[in-house]
Amino acid sequence: MTTRGDRENLAELIVPRAGHTPSGGDPSYYERLYPPRDLPEGAAVTRLGPSPTGFIHLGNLYTAFMNEKLSAETNGVCILRIEDTDRKREVVGAVETLISSLAYFGVRFNEGVVYDAPDGISEIGHYGPYYQSARKDIYRTYVRQLVREGKAYPCFLTEEEINEIRARQERDKRTPGIYGAWAKYRDLPVDAYAERIEAGQSYVIRFKAGSECADGANEGRHIEIVDGIRGKLSMPANAMDVVILKRDGLPTYHFAHVTDDHLMRTTHVIRGEEWLSSLPIHVALFEALGFTPPIYCHSTVLMKSEGGKKRKLSKRKDPELSLEYYRSEGYHPRAVLEYLLTVINSNFEEWRAANPDAPISAFEMTTEKMGVSGILFDLEKLRDISKDVLVKIPANELADFVTHWAAGYRKDAHRILASDRARLARILDIGRDGDKPRKDLSHARQIFDFIGYFYDEFFEIREPYPDETPIGDVPVLLHAYLETYAQSDDRDAWFEKIRILATKHGYAAKPKDFKKEPDRYKGHVGHVSAVIRISIVGRSNSPDLYEIQRILGETVVRARIRRAADAV
Ligand code: GLU
Repeated sequence: MTTRGDRENLAELIVPRAGHTPSGGDPSYYERLYPPRDLPEGAAVTRLGPSPTGFIHLGNLYTAFMNEKLSAETNGVCILRIEDTDRKREVVGAVETLISSLAYFGVRFNEGVVYDAPDGISEIGHYGPYYQSARKDIYRTYVRQLVREGKAYPCFLTEEEINEIRARQERDKRTPGIYGAWAKYRDLPVDAYAERIEAGQSYVIRFKAGSECADGANEGRHIEIVDGIRGKLSMPANAMDVVILKRDGLPTYHFAHVTDDHLMRTTHVIRGEEWLSSLPIHVALFEALGFTPPIYCHSTVLMKSEGGKKRKLSKRKDPELSLEYYRSEGYHPRAVLEYLLTVINSNFEEWRAANPDAPISAFEMTTEKMGVSGILFDLEKLRDISKDVLVKIPANELADFVTHWAAGYRKDAHRILASDRARLARILDIGRDGDKPRKDLSHARQIFDFIGYFYDEFFEIREPYPDETPIGDVPVLLHAYLETYAQSDDRDAWFEKIRILATKHGYAAKPKDFKKEPDRYKGHVGHVSAVIRISIVGRSNSPDLYEIQRILGETVVRARIRRAADAV
């Protein structure tokens, strides 16, 4: 029988007290170092725990946003903790990218890892370090505790042995994993462990499933958990001897986050649904360590409809999963957040209808109203929402936004756009006042494509002239237009001249006249206007041409018309 003394010896062998600094292997050291926080009643302590893999996706943004919002609404704290225990997946510069990407969408943390140009990365707060790789001593201290209490043990299974076990389990249609008879190092006499360790065999530390409960058996047991979003859940208790400390001495996610969330005094963990299935492991670890678990809130996954079927958004196939996509396309952060809230929170649309002009921060989030079943993500819908959002942004602000975007993603256009902000604002403002403001701007890349013709460098004739105007008519109509064109004309006078010009050349003055007697005319005034429009903006669709001409100025207008007439 293994005695307490034996277990103490084993713990000592794995994590020797001497040289184990600064805690000396004593968990109470950390309990004192990170005392419960002095916060007002109800304040939520939340955290985002991303891995620095360089890939940040929409789901990360959503959970980050929710964590930050929940803490802000309750005067709590939101921590950024970098979960870098998987050294293989680490990417240089990923932390800066992560922080700046989230900051672009307005998400900021008030504790943990922060990034401020020009100082770079630093850590703030009393509950650090905030990189898991710098918390080795903490994890080892708690691993020691579990070994001492007989709740964890060293396992010497090699990778080949594990592969063999997996293959056998697959063949026999058994649940894969290390448990029951497969966990052959689970109950060795201490001497046997010691022998192997002393002989230098490499090992991991596994958590002994069931050791967290009184009767030590988890088979057939269920646990009940209340999820902040999903409500009461009943799940099979953990029956696997999962790895908590890897061969490289770093903890697994399961163990690290449990220890960290306890010591950082986290109250709420809002994280992706993909973690829901490992919740029983986490609950068991909290129990085994004697910690009170935080409130877990598992948000939903984003799906895409393809060929009539729903599937999870995939990193490989769907560029729109990555946050970088929204930045490079120039989606306004407010639009993306507005969209995410619309699809994930069942009460957001109603709130928005009642508060059309309120900032997103005024929306009170309730975890119960967050969706739980796969949410359909649809770029078209995002663009529609974006148009509604952009129409409310003052033209000056929008001009700054587009210019800023160009600095990063259309360097060739940046200087030109930045050279006259007031003009850019005027361009963006066309048709946006009145009862029916123009709502066709959705994101910076599309906006630039829309307005490129205002800049000679980006102007080109992209579309053919209408079929109703024989090609020989094009120069004739354009020259005639040039003759009557006067920059000082008001809108009515300007259009009246086009009407006269149209009639003179065999086109009906009104579309309905042409419809009535199509044989009498070549086409109507709309076709003539189209020729003029195409020669000036290069396309048949554009906002108010009169206004465009005012912004372009007489010289440019005349030059373009002349060039178009000559080119035919
Ligand atoms: N490191 C985990 C991830 O990469 C964090 C999960 C959590 O929030 O607990 O998603």
